[in-house]
Amino acid sequence: GVRPLIAGNWKMHGTLREAAALAEAVRAGAVAEALPADLLVCPPFLHVQVLAAAMLGQPVAVGAQDCHAAAKGAHTGDIAAAMLRDVGATHVILGHSERRADHGETDAVVRAKTVAALAAGLVPVVCVGETEAERLAGQAEQVVSRQLADSLPDGFAGIVAYEPVWAIGTGRTPTEGDIAAIHGTIRAALATRFGAAGAGTRILYGGSMKPGNARAILALPNVDGGLVGGASLVAADFLAIARAA
Ligand code: 13P
Repeated sequence: GVRPLIAGNWKMHGTLREAAALAEAVRAGAVAEALPADLLVCPPFLHVQVLAAAMLGQPVAVGAQDCHAAAKGAHTGDIAAAMLRDVGATHVILGHSERRADHGETDAVVRAKTVAALAAGLVPVVCVGETEAERLAGQAEQVVSRQLADSLPDGFAGIVAYEPVWAIGTGRTPTEGDIAAIHGTIRAALATRFGAAGAGTRILYGGSMKPGNARAILALPNVDGGLVGGASLVAADFLAIARAA
């Protein structure tokens, strides 16, 4: 399969000094040993430029956590994909469940942002995942399939992250069987719609991934890496997860 990617979503944490120190610790770890995974860190917008400059030519990619769907314009407080690319970001997380919940992002909005990211030369990391109520109702596969179909534009070339909402920041994860089932469903949908490109698309798992559960999760079929929240804020934990890939 593809080389795994371990991505850190730092969410809304840290000062610039802390962000720089965390990135440097990750960088130092990555150059000190031959990790079996590529690394990506996604700091808050304000810290993207400084970290992208610091990680230039280093084995740690830098991405953002959102972008606007428009190329430019009267959108107070927003950031365009091209602005992120301009300061050295290579990736952008889109459609995270916290964006969907806190900012009302629909699948159509996520799709438009994904188009914008691709146009700007960024690799989109598009997130899907069911709520606990949806899982308990037996609708997880159906919800994820719909989000995937509606959030990805035609011609999609990027990364997909499966993040069950109820597993984020809770210390709970789906069973290995449930993760493998959803990832298999995502793979089949990608292959059907995008052909060979879909067959090679990285599908990350996210939601309470830690050093203690990473090896088992990352060994599952169609799990091509992780999107790590809390544990990505501790360099040793993030590197331990990468080592388990
Ligand atoms: P946690 O790893 O803190 O559960 O967060 C996962 C996540 O939302 C990554 O995008």
